[in-house]
Amino acid sequence: MKKGEGGGGGEGGRVTKISTFPSDSGRPRALHRPPLRGATARAPPVPPAPSIPSRSQSSMPVWGYTKTTGPHTWSVYYPAAGGQKQSPIDLVPEKAEQAGEIAPLSYHYRSDACTRVTNTGQGWKLLIGTTDPVVGRPSTNLRSLLGEVQGGPLNSTFKLEQIHAHWGKHDAEGSEHRVEGKAYPCEVSVEGFFLGALGRFRSRASSCDGCGAFESSGLKVLRAIHLVHWDSDKFGSFAEAAGAEGGLTVLGVFVEVGDENSEFAKIIQILDSIPHKGDTTDLEPVNPSNFLPGGQYWTYEGSLTTPPCSETVNWILFKNPITASSEQLSAFRAMKSQAAGEECSHDEFEGRVLRNFRPPMPLCGRTVRECA
Ligand SMILES: [Zn+2]
Repeated sequence: MKKGEGGGGGEGGRVTKISTFPSDSGRPRALHRPPLRGATARAPPVPPAPSIPSRSQSSMPVWGYTKTTGPHTWSVYYPAAGGQKQSPIDLVPEKAEQAGEIAPLSYHYRSDACTRVTNTGQGWKLLIGTTDPVVGRPSTNLRSLLGEVQGGPLNSTFKLEQIHAHWGKHDAEGSEHRVEGKAYPCEVSVEGFFLGALGRFRSRASSCDGCGAFESSGLKVLRAIHLVHWDSDKFGSFAEAAGAEGGLTVLGVFVEVGDENSEFAKIIQILDSIPHKGDTTDLEPVNPSNFLPGGQYWTYEGSLTTPPCSETVNWILFKNPITASSEQLSAFRAMKSQAAGEECSHDEFEGRVLRNFRPPMPLCGRTVRECA
């Protein structure tokens, strides 16, 4: 496996390599203490239980989305998760600053940019590659040719690294970024797969150019997909950029229930081939452009939404959603979170990827800008 491939479930492919707690059963043990927001490895308020490895050990503990491994525990082992520039956030359109005149956001991708997909144990991840002209099979070595984004609020060119999604266990949960979404999840009645955001859109949003899809008198369940890029002007690799301020750019696209999504169909078609964590297979090439709706977007400085939660991400969140059918949106929950041959985890998810979202984090004085 190449660096940055298949080892993690979220934005930080390189840095989310998972190892498990040492335990007799081979399964990770539960964390029996509350999360330590802002804690450092040097002076944790509560001494670790004997079964929990210290940060001095080479292997980091498993992280996930269950009661014992979920986002509320991450800052114990990943201090950045307790920082002041964390993602996702709750987006409040009325409070967004108008960006005014800025360069247009520009992105282009080859239609065959994604030819491989992997089960990370926390969802699927599209790997960036194309057919190697020499060996005649997909090669991620050519990824730099395959897609990039620049312009808008960005001061560099960012290469596409990977694409993934987030979802929830049922229709009352699942959002990462939300749009005025605090109190809404429990009102939702739409089938509950979730890739990103959930919220209510006011008439102000629906009056904007290109925001017609947001016109709604009530609540909509929205999902999102994340396209992860790294700054190839300043850095030599994704791994290098992932640790540097502003080194990454993630494009977030909300998805709502509606017409079938042609790109999701390609992924669902091969899901049976990657039931377990670590499984990887070829698929009909996915065109990243088909995930992007264009139009207005919000932008702010934030973090990876998965450990190590590095605060190195320029977030660009398109206002316009794309659609997928409810059948498509429920298919991903059948994925398994353990590797083949690994004992089924005895948690509330019973070894399925039923939930893989982080809830909104405090804005902490950051500015969200609205761009045309
Ligand atoms: Zn993500």
